[in-house]
Amino acid sequence: MAGHMTPEEFRRYGKQVIDWIADYQEKIASYPVLSATRPGEILAGLPEAAPERGEAFEDVLADLERVIMPGVTHWQHPGFFAYFPANASGPAILGDLLSAGLGVQGMLWATSPACTELEMRTLDWLAGLLGLPERFRGAGVIQDSASSAALVAIVAALHRATGGAAGRDGIGGRHTVYVSSETHSSLEKAARVAGIGAANVRVVDVDPAALTMDPARLDALIAEDVAAGAVPVLVCATVGTTSTTAVDPVPAIGAVCRRHGAWLHVDAAYAGVAAVCPELRWVNDGVAEYADSYATDPHKWLLTNFDCNALWVADRDSLTGALSILPEYLRNQASASGEVVDYRDWQIPLGRRFRALKLWSVIRWYGAEGLREHVRTGVRLAKDLAGWIADDAAFEVRDHHPFGLVCFRPRWEGRTGEEADAATLALMERLNASGDLYLSHTRAGGRVWLRMAIGAPATRDEHVREAWARIRAAL
Ligand SMILES: *Cc1c(COP(=O)(O)O)cnc(C)c1O
Repeated sequence: MAGHMTPEEFRRYGKQVIDWIADYQEKIASYPVLSATRPGEILAGLPEAAPERGEAFEDVLADLERVIMPGVTHWQHPGFFAYFPANASGPAILGDLLSAGLGVQGMLWATSPACTELEMRTLDWLAGLLGLPERFRGAGVIQDSASSAALVAIVAALHRATGGAAGRDGIGGRHTVYVSSETHSSLEKAARVAGIGAANVRVVDVDPAALTMDPARLDALIAEDVAAGAVPVLVCATVGTTSTTAVDPVPAIGAVCRRHGAWLHVDAAYAGVAAVCPELRWVNDGVAEYADSYATDPHKWLLTNFDCNALWVADRDSLTGALSILPEYLRNQASASGEVVDYRDWQIPLGRRFRALKLWSVIRWYGAEGLREHVRTGVRLAKDLAGWIADDAAFEVRDHHPFGLVCFRPRWEGRTGEEADAATLALMERLNASGDLYLSHTRAGGRVWLRMAIGAPATRDEHVREAWARIRAAL
């Protein structure tokens, strides 16, 4: 019977694992970026039952190569341009490993004070790096994802809007949440989970060209709902929509929220981190004046392994009022003293990982300078790409690309809209099957567009140039 892995064994296998990851980083470009495995293939390569007797760790590593790797899509590949990036980096991986090594569960300050206090300090650092308002200092928390941040914001907003009644007595009456057609689907999911109901998620029209929320339409819709007896709970403004990185007019939306007493949540999941660069600080316009909560994902573009979402709230009392619950077995002196933050009151689950370690490692390794350089590289490569596309008469490029995402499509002269869309999707399938690059798509203004999101740490000029050459050649 195998016992616990001894520290000596851990040292030996740990070095092998680190070597394995370093080798992977060195040869990542040689893998086909998108896994070509068929549904069930990986499953079929795995035994149906768990082993009765412990196995050698060498066998685990061998199966990783043999069974698992064919089913991996290589998100850190320099040719990965789909969705948004999910950056990994050396310091983040090591920070995550340290977190695993400590095996801390940081639900309360008392269950590991450093887990809470490092998170507070690191999020204050990040708020400073992004130029976020002073009132967010000491009011940041790491969530697993922007989706959780949205849910937390909605329950805090409900608490505020109902004077705490929502959590106590349940939601009585009609409560509404406002999004646009371009808002991330996690908002509707959060509204469903929070008991607001999908029918009370009101979709505000967007400007047809810019795809940004129309504040006048928002104002009118809220007024109409209020007249019909609804309570407007929360408005979500997006800075950098998932589809095309459109930026909602936060100042104008914020003014509408203030007029109607609605909570303003700013979802800057992808683009918020761009504010590390002074020239991109405009993404924060309106946040200082109006945002009740603000969320961005260092796990997308800021070199921090998934999962790491940063959420700040202006009104901590609504948040903890909505989420604090104290069973006897969690009572402790530190919490009772009121001198400490217990982050379990800032999130849905009780338990929490020591995620701050990886973000702290990243910020210390790169410094503000290194983080800016990374974002600037993505922005510059996207600008180059957009220029090449604009110069090619066979293609059309959307002219909004302030970050790392470029949306474009072949013109397919002489085809109907539907034929063109089908041809665009077929082109994408062909390209993605090549193994050299991975694009995704969206629909904007009724047409299918290809999305090329640049931002993997390994992606350089030559990879973008090669990708563009391949796209043209595949037409
Ligand atoms: C990616 C994205 C989300 C969801 O992010 P997760 O952290 O994966 O939950 C939410 N909103 C926007 C605008 C996004 O781009």
